[in-house]
Amino acid sequence: MKRFACTVFLIMALFSSTLQLEVLADPVQTARPKYEIQAKYDASKQTVSGHMVVTIPEMRLFPQKEAFFQLYPNVFKDWKYEKESKPEKPGYLNVKNVQVDGVTVKENVKETILQVPFGKEVPIGKTARIEMDYELVLPKGGTRLNTYENTAFLAQWYPMLVVQDKEGWHNDPYTTVGDPFYTQMSDFEVSFDLPAGYQVISSAKDQASPAEKMVLKQDNVRDFVAVLTKDYQVIRGKSGKTDVNLWYLKGMEKESKPLHEAALSSMKFFGERFGEYPYEEVDVVLGETGFGIAGMEYPGLITSIAKMPTMTGETPAISVVAHELAHQWWYGVVGSNQAKEPWLDEGLTTFSEHLFMQKQMKEDDRDWLKKASDKTDEIHKAVGIHSAQKLYDYPNEIYGIMVYIRPAAMMYQLMDDIGEEKVMEILKTYYERYQFQTATSQDFFKVANEVSGKDLKPFFDKWLYFKDGEPKKTNTAS
Ligand SMILES: [Zn+2]
Repeated sequence: MKRFACTVFLIMALFSSTLQLEVLADPVQTARPKYEIQAKYDASKQTVSGHMVVTIPEMRLFPQKEAFFQLYPNVFKDWKYEKESKPEKPGYLNVKNVQVDGVTVKENVKETILQVPFGKEVPIGKTARIEMDYELVLPKGGTRLNTYENTAFLAQWYPMLVVQDKEGWHNDPYTTVGDPFYTQMSDFEVSFDLPAGYQVISSAKDQASPAEKMVLKQDNVRDFVAVLTKDYQVIRGKSGKTDVNLWYLKGMEKESKPLHEAALSSMKFFGERFGEYPYEEVDVVLGETGFGIAGMEYPGLITSIAKMPTMTGETPAISVVAHELAHQWWYGVVGSNQAKEPWLDEGLTTFSEHLFMQKQMKEDDRDWLKKASDKTDEIHKAVGIHSAQKLYDYPNEIYGIMVYIRPAAMMYQLMDDIGEEKVMEILKTYYERYQFQTATSQDFFKVANEVSGKDLKPFFDKWLYFKDGEPKKTNTAS
């Protein structure tokens, strides 16, 4: 995600600056659940009636007596967060007729968490088929999950399997700070029943024209997002083997062309630097409607505002598009637990965005990043929070500067210390080693040490954890 309020306003308030803004693959990590979803959209009621089958993989860490699912739309039922982001009309997701291997079971729902007891133990090496019907009522004015005129933004719109790893079940609660979503690589087969004239823009390779029935398939993605619309227009293009489509609404014509060019050039830039983008298609959908959000990343699809304010007027939101597309590498392909270690995807993504803006768009913000990161030393002294904490530890006002900005400045410092080429090699190695898996901060540090041939622990300790008495530069440490 790129934070609108935080990035732009914090920057202006603080500085009045000119910135406008290989190891063997783990068999458990690479075993994927399969989702089969049949969804019928009713545009007049703004509801989705769904039937979902989830097959859990044979390869798991534990025998399983239950599974958990996140029902994120339920946060829009009785909104308990900031009133500015309260939906005008509530939304929710109800499940019924839950079965495990054909046997009806009694589910338990508490706010966003659905527990499905199996009524038996499913040993490692055996799959289980969890089936349910669901009814999604879309909110109006919801964050990410939303409806706008003849468009439904289906984000986190189906019961999403909760990750169980060696730390246990990740039944993490929702929060309006950052992206509280943590999912594992899965295979999707999603069929849509749509009213006449509707098009689907999704995580899969989409059909080129509207249809009332369609089946979309996408393997090896963490999530499946879909935008159902009668209103969007498209500009198509290609970067390498990947189709890069930019979708825009009436009134965004002026920004659509430069943003499509930026999308093409950032996909090429990140692909060359970090490693090849593995999917056939990526969609850029303009018109992010979430409160305080400038853009959001999903597998194979991003959203972005069309334009952003500058000191002198407005500009196409190129840095937002670049940021969200960089997430295709850092979140999409290489996953991480965004609730536990949000810096890992947001820091690397913010660095990638700034690098693109510097090298391709000739907007060099390194001085600003450095000044901003100096400010984080003061924040740390005042509130004791560092840059590698859990999402839930950060007050909204400092989340962006601690989790996005300082780690991005850290990566620039690392470039100054060990050279750009080495830093790119670190990112390439990290991408290659952990693609389609979930990496941790420790995995990243390990790759950095290995590739640089240095002990970078004191460097990361200082930059991410504010550990005093350690050198902030690696060249004094080695
Ligand atoms: Zn982000």
